[in-house]
Amino acid sequence: MSTSSSLHIVWLRNDLRAYDNAALYYAAAVAKSEPDSAVVALFIATAKSWQQHQMAPIKQDFIRRRVIQLQSELAEQGIALLALEAGHYNDCSSIFEQLSALGMVALYSQTEYELREQQRDKRITRQLEAAGITVNWYDRLCTMAPGSILTQSGDTYKVFTPFKRNWLARLAQQGVTCYPKVKSANYYNVSALSNQLTLPLMAACDNSSAAWPVTEQQVLEQMRLFCQQQVADYQQSRDFPALSGTSNLSAYLACGIISAQQCVNRLQMEAGAALEQEKSGASIWLSELIWREFYKHILVAYPDLIKHQPFQADTAAIRWRNSHTLFKAWCDGKTGYPIVDAAMRQLNQTGWMHNRLRMITASFLVKDLHVDWRWGEHYFMSQLIDGDFAANNGGWQWAASTGTDAAPYFRIFNPVTQSERFDPDGTFLRQFIPELLKLNSKEIHWPHKKGTPPAYWPAVVDHNEARKITLTLFTEAKNADG
Ligand SMILES: Cc1cc2nc3c(=O)[nH]c(=O)nc-3n(C[C@H](O)[C@H](O)[C@H](O)COP(=O)(O)OP(=O)(O)OC[C@H]3O[C@@H](n4cnc5c(N)ncnc54)[C@H](O)[C@@H]3O)c2cc1C
Repeated sequence: MSTSSSLHIVWLRNDLRAYDNAALYYAAAVAKSEPDSAVVALFIATAKSWQQHQMAPIKQDFIRRRVIQLQSELAEQGIALLALEAGHYNDCSSIFEQLSALGMVALYSQTEYELREQQRDKRITRQLEAAGITVNWYDRLCTMAPGSILTQSGDTYKVFTPFKRNWLARLAQQGVTCYPKVKSANYYNVSALSNQLTLPLMAACDNSSAAWPVTEQQVLEQMRLFCQQQVADYQQSRDFPALSGTSNLSAYLACGIISAQQCVNRLQMEAGAALEQEKSGASIWLSELIWREFYKHILVAYPDLIKHQPFQADTAAIRWRNSHTLFKAWCDGKTGYPIVDAAMRQLNQTGWMHNRLRMITASFLVKDLHVDWRWGEHYFMSQLIDGDFAANNGGWQWAASTGTDAAPYFRIFNPVTQSERFDPDGTFLRQFIPELLKLNSKEIHWPHKKGTPPAYWPAVVDHNEARKITLTLFTEAKNADG
């Protein structure tokens, strides 16, 4: 196709997939009905903004690998993907200015919920509409869009269980829509376009995320197999980090390589009647997908969360002790508490951490080391391949007892009993802590016997003492607020 075509630009951000992509679907439908028009997908890597948001290098690498893969997947569908490099979100404006001059007639894209992303999108919308270009946003990050699940008085739910009840009722009423893969007859050669743009093409990546496959077929297959073969056991196995009892799909959901709608749809197809039983693995897995949506709804309704405010205002008065030495021991996996250390080493070495361990390590940082939960939230974000603001903030505020529907402040995980319960024979501990390989399954959870030479890093705090301090910190904050 020539450069004089009308260009329908699909701006891909957190929907890096060909299937169930509303923006691609509608762009292709409109372009098909117009003569001499073509669909061009666009991705803009914004490394400087990503760094400002603490996006982990492994996640940046993962996104870049996925974009390169998606280029060839979309090419098979007759759609070119132009991948450009622009430092900050602000630099996106100049790309759209240039594309407008080169024949862009419409923009199609999926909404993002975070504050800076929303500000960027409002700016681009104003800019394009002023140039006479049609702008179409699709709110598809959740199965049920934020604002659509409200209490009877029209408020956002602050408690998960009634939110979930309403969410399930809505699902029963309206089902879930997934868009088919599209094909375009007019392949537009973007090299003609990219030669005329002043911004460089997206840089290559160093492959630190190579352990994570990035083809859409592989990811869909992983999701299908989980729903077919593993979800029935989810309830029994999901809390044991030595087992692969969870779906491992969070990185794909966070970048939109698959959608929540595809997961719900597949789960309904495979699990059938099991979804009617509240305690079945399928129902519990669906609940986790609903937690994901709950935190996104909360983020949209309470945008101050992005400014790192606690959801429960009185907890802002807590006088965290914020020891840099203890924080470093936690980050490095050298606290002397094997389950905490193994978990942090899993995060540092693989970019992912099991959910049970995220709860244990978050509780430990806040309620044993008395470090502000926001330090942990930042650190997780800087390491996680699945880093997602809403889920991470929700998880941290839950563990710190500062959030909506959070753990009560007096509920404090005991890291040793958690370890004995969820890694009973120490398999997970041995995987990440070579120092403990020789200890038996009983000793390994607490390798600090009095009167024997130290077998491991000394414990940085005494859990029982730390627990008392936490109760005092929360009580003082409540009194100060009161
Ligand atoms: C302190 C803390 C920080 C967290 N940070 C993140 C994060 O940055 N990104 C992220 O995706 N999840 C986060 N979680 C939630 C959860 O730990 C991960 O989603 C889960 O471990 C991913 O593994 P999986 O894909 O095998 O999950 P599965 O158990 O198979 O669950 C399926 C999907 O449901 C969603 N999900 C599951 N549990 C939760 C939850 N508690 N909250 C929100 N969504 C959930 C995820 O998208 C997950 O992929 C955090 C939890 C805590 C306690």
